[in-house]
Amino acid sequence: MMQPALELVIAELEKIRETSDRAPRVSRNALEQLQSTYSLAVSLPGTAEPHEDRQEAHVSPTRRQLRESSANRVQMLASVRERVCGCTKCAHLARSRTQTVFGVGNPDAEIMFIGEAPGSDEDQQGEPFVGRAGQLLTKIIKAMGFSREDVYIANILKCRPNMPAGSFGNRAPTPAEMQTCRPYLIEQIDIIQPKVLVALGAVAVEGLLGARGTMRELRGRWHSYNGMPLMITYHPAYLLRNQSPSEKRKVWEDMMQVLERLEKPISEKQRNYFL
Ligand code: SF4
Repeated sequence: MMQPALELVIAELEKIRETSDRAPRVSRNALEQLQSTYSLAVSLPGTAEPHEDRQEAHVSPTRRQLRESSANRVQMLASVRERVCGCTKCAHLARSRTQTVFGVGNPDAEIMFIGEAPGSDEDQQGEPFVGRAGQLLTKIIKAMGFSREDVYIANILKCRPNMPAGSFGNRAPTPAEMQTCRPYLIEQIDIIQPKVLVALGAVAVEGLLGARGTMRELRGRWHSYNGMPLMITYHPAYLLRNQSPSEKRKVWEDMMQVLERLEKPISEKQRNYFL
């Protein structure tokens, strides 16, 4: 019974699309719930379709499109990743990097976190936000009720900014380096189409919007990038340097705005973090 019900909903949506000037709007949550309800139904004894090909015949164009678009995203990201892997546009960075650091997470993510550039740990491991600041970001993501696998995380720069021989630490990317690498991030955003972007720190904002500003004036309110809601908050490295509950609370308030925008429930306990 579950499949005909799902088909009815989808048929109705298709009818709206065909007869209206505006495409039907359905929240991703609602679609996911419908899809998971159907998956559950076919996995229950006695409710499964007898043959896979029969199931395939019942798959509506809309649902097939959804499934294919997800597979397409994986494929399209893989193709950008391949170009990034071989990229030598910044010869000095291509020479000094251990590897490129493309991005990680769910190609269908609702939230995309954007940082500035890989540091030493990321350069070694090939994954963004894995050092101390990254571990703090992972904690923030978990406090929001997600896992790293649910969201997408990327940097403006895909190579670690080089350091003078014998020096330690990381340096911020230059505006020229960010401008050179930015198109790859734009491709990632275009493919993933997250519902909300979160820029971490003023350098990431500069890389994304090309505008300089202080975090005091930028954070805590909604901005827009290509029509997508953009929340700006402190880079987790800032919180490692300023561990006062009031600074943590600022970031948490920004993240609660993100949850509200995504219409995610916020518990009383969550509301009171760092108060
Ligand atoms: S930073 Fe970006 S543009 Fe520069 S070499 Fe690395 S991948 Fe290419």
